[in-house]
Amino acid sequence: DAKTQGRNTYRFYEPALQQLGARRLNLESGLKRAQELGELTLNFQPKYDCTRKCLIGAEALLRWQHKDEWISPTEFIPLAEETGLILPIGEWVMETALNTLVAWRQQGLVDSDFHIGVNVSPAQFWHHEFAERTLTILQRCLPEGQGPGVLELELTESCLLRPSEESRKTFNALRKAGVRFAVDDFGTGYSNLSYLKQFPLDVLKIDQSFVRDCIEDLSDATIIRAIIAMAHGLGLAVIAEGVETFEHAEFLKQAGCKLLQGYLVARPMPAEQFGDFCRELPQHPLLSIESRAVR
Ligand code: C2E
Ligand code: MG
Ligand code: MG
Ligand code: MG
Repeated sequence: DAKTQGRNTYRFYEPALQQLGARRLNLESGLKRAQELGELTLNFQPKYDCTRKCLIGAEALLRWQHKDEWISPTEFIPLAEETGLILPIGEWVMETALNTLVAWRQQGLVDSDFHIGVNVSPAQFWHHEFAERTLTILQRCLPEGQGPGVLELELTESCLLRPSEESRKTFNALRKAGVRFAVDDFGTGYSNLSYLKQFPLDVLKIDQSFVRDCIEDLSDATIIRAIIAMAHGLGLAVIAEGVETFEHAEFLKQAGCKLLQGYLVARPMPAEQFGDFCRELPQHPLLSIESRAVR
């Protein structure tokens, strides 16, 4: 009857909640030691220019292997933000990403305008020493004069919510050192777009949720076209995330978005695989389809 069922449901539900809490505590203490144990690594996902047919940069994406399990950043980044661990972890990401770029340059894999994209959480961006620490890392990793334009910080719209004197200073200090700024997951955040004219931004990254169904869904296609028009009107570059199919790429190119990132170009990969990827790029199916499609 209903009473016993209700009780059963309750008794089933409680341990599930406890398990969730236990997992959280486990991950939290695991994350505290992840850095020293060497459990954190970076993957890199190329960004491709389909008109120049070359790579323009790569995004660094954090990976955590904990006790034989790969934990998704969508699970552990929020934990890192809540615990403050995002600060040391974020600095490790930036330093490791820049050192990787320097190594790729030395191997002759990338030229001087190839950039590294690094994701930045609001908690990092709002820290009063963020600009200073970032500049220190840049100076440490890149010898004099090799710095400008190599670091692109990917901020979510929530970083741009409160245009304060403080955040303006952060932007300007980094800007002066040649750091570039991209708005990540553009279109999924807040409808107040006034931040677009308040801050020195360089790139809008069209969120993958719009790209996924842009062929079948007229609303998604319309939103993408509007974002591209707005980016161009504001003098910003625009790149599409989550490009998985040739149809996506073709649609985006025709809509005026020539910068692509997604599984179609490549999945995020360890730094050691990047050399092979670059060498095989001339044989990438995307290149031949592209040249056939050019009108
Ligand atoms: P994001 O910055 O928007 O990164 C894009 C996510 O989409 C990545 O997931 C990437 O692996 C995935 N992706 C790329 N191409 C495709 C595609 O064609 N199809 C599909 N379905 N997915 C694609 P990932 O690596 O799991 O990262 C998730 C999020 O975690 C990132 O979203 C970013 O917000 C955050 N994150 C990752 N690394 C860092 C980091 O070092 N610091 C901070 N603060 N956040 C990070
Ligand atoms: Mg990103
Ligand atoms: Mg994104
Ligand atoms: Mg995202």
